[in-house]
Amino acid sequence: MKTLLLFPPQWTPLNPHFSVASLIGQLRKNNYEIIIRDLNIEYYNKILTKEYLQESLDKAFKMKDKLFQSLKTEYTDEKVEADYSEEFKRNLVKYTKIKEFQANKAYEIEDLPGIIEEAVSIMKCKERFYEPQYLIKALNDLDKALEIISLPYHPSQVEFHNYSDPMFKLTYESIKQYCTDKSLNMFYEYFEEVLPSLLEENADLIAISINSSTQIVPGLTLAMLLKKHSNAHISIGGNFFSRLVDSLVERPEFFKLFCNSLVVEEGEKPIVELAKYVEGKIPIEQVPNLLYLKDDKVKINEKTAPLKLNEMHCQDLDGFPLDLYLTPDIVLSIQSSRGCYWQKCSFCDHYFGQNVNTKDINILINEMKTVQEKYGISHFEFIDESISPAYLKMMSSKIIQEGLEVNWFNNARLETEFSKDLLQLASQAGLKMALWGLETGSERIMKLINKGIDFHKRLDILKDSYDAGIWNFAFIFFGFPTETHEEALMTIDMLCNNTDIVNCYGKSIFTLGKHTRLQDEPEKYGITEIMASQDEFSPSYTFKTSTGLDERGISQVANLCTERCNVAYGSPLWMYIRYREIFFLYVCKYGAKEVNECRVG
Ligand code: SF4
Repeated sequence: MKTLLLFPPQWTPLNPHFSVASLIGQLRKNNYEIIIRDLNIEYYNKILTKEYLQESLDKAFKMKDKLFQSLKTEYTDEKVEADYSEEFKRNLVKYTKIKEFQANKAYEIEDLPGIIEEAVSIMKCKERFYEPQYLIKALNDLDKALEIISLPYHPSQVEFHNYSDPMFKLTYESIKQYCTDKSLNMFYEYFEEVLPSLLEENADLIAISINSSTQIVPGLTLAMLLKKHSNAHISIGGNFFSRLVDSLVERPEFFKLFCNSLVVEEGEKPIVELAKYVEGKIPIEQVPNLLYLKDDKVKINEKTAPLKLNEMHCQDLDGFPLDLYLTPDIVLSIQSSRGCYWQKCSFCDHYFGQNVNTKDINILINEMKTVQEKYGISHFEFIDESISPAYLKMMSSKIIQEGLEVNWFNNARLETEFSKDLLQLASQAGLKMALWGLETGSERIMKLINKGIDFHKRLDILKDSYDAGIWNFAFIFFGFPTETHEEALMTIDMLCNNTDIVNCYGKSIFTLGKHTRLQDEPEKYGITEIMASQDEFSPSYTFKTSTGLDERGISQVANLCTERCNVAYGSPLWMYIRYREIFFLYVCKYGAKEVNECRVG
């Protein structure tokens, strides 16, 4: 009984993904043979080469004339925009993009293919990665290379941290179209190339992990090709589809095209039972959390209580190509808790489908030690929704007591229990960066969010944290229902007036998640109407509010935030090295104060 576990593009190519490493641990603990292929990192290493860039340029420039001919055939003076086909519109934006690129991007066309492999080697180099002038140039060159790679598929765009297409919709029809039409799908040819090596494994069970919307088209294309060419049981897991069970139940054709089954919510227990089913040891009805097709209908098996963290095997990186990740130092995801101990923020559904439980501190420390000894990894990202002050204290004390030399970062709520002493203890134990939910500068909005923290003490905690040598990363967002322009400005002012302690920030736009508290009591938040999204696989709803910023207003304040912060922060290094894993590594190397003071140019 052999399992092939696949992690498809697109995901930021910096580190192995936790979901896969954790599943491997469970399967190996149960003595199953397992092969891992991180096709995401293999893909980036394949495309960021001279040959691939040259091929992409040739392909794009060759298709330009063909596109022009086809546009000419459909174009007439009498037609208005609505009369043209989707294909015409797509071809028009693609043609325009390629034409402009050819006219304006001499560096990309002439020089970049020859030096892209140098950029990749800088990303992996223990010396040059940590020299900003090399790293910034490498990151910029990678962006430009990915623009070239995307040209023949424009407006599809693969980036370092994203894959998107403004014409793609989260509907079954659109997903099917993108997965089956090679001209829309920049991953198709790559999968055709790697397919023989996957089939050669002769796996009985092939599990594909889809955790983000950026993995949908590539992940499902891969699933579709495997379903067509392999006799293995093809199963999809990961947390993206867990939120969409209601939509999946209505779509038996999804299962006919893409997979034999789909695992929802926490997968560690179901994957082992699924392996038993594939082996013929149990009937499919006994595999918990499973969706599959029976008599042309989608059947859902009963859910099971997930494994407790203490029952899980340590994550297993054997088989991951650790030298392929675009970093000199792997930052490994790790968990000390699942779910969120607070669970009350009205906008949040991060904890959906997760039972709250924490890992015994000794098990956690052993896991960190094992990973350090076995793979030489000393940098960790805690992917817990939020680490509590009590756990942080226990963990920090234990790390110091054990003499473990590690660095890490984690999410946390700005609770007053994160005292000066605790933050100093944590810093001493290796906490180099904290991701805080600062959210908003408006006290009214903060109350509606129900974060459960003292609004007026948040900045004091950030100051104590920075004084302790911890880099403060703040999450903020715009567009909470009924938020006014003035309230959004308060958030911008809060950032601009505190650049010394809010070391960097990540901003987002509010979306109404399908499993949030907010959508349970919409009237309490000024929401007058919730509309089912036309995109059946969208994890959020559209909505109307009685007052507050509209879509345009939200977009304007978000842009204003960028403009004003660019001035207030004054070209800081973090804006150029962009990715939080990267500035975490810089903080580990140089310290929070030095990185905070570093300006570019
Ligand atoms: S936003 Fe964070 S603290 Fe609030 S409920 Fe969600 S996970 Fe918990």
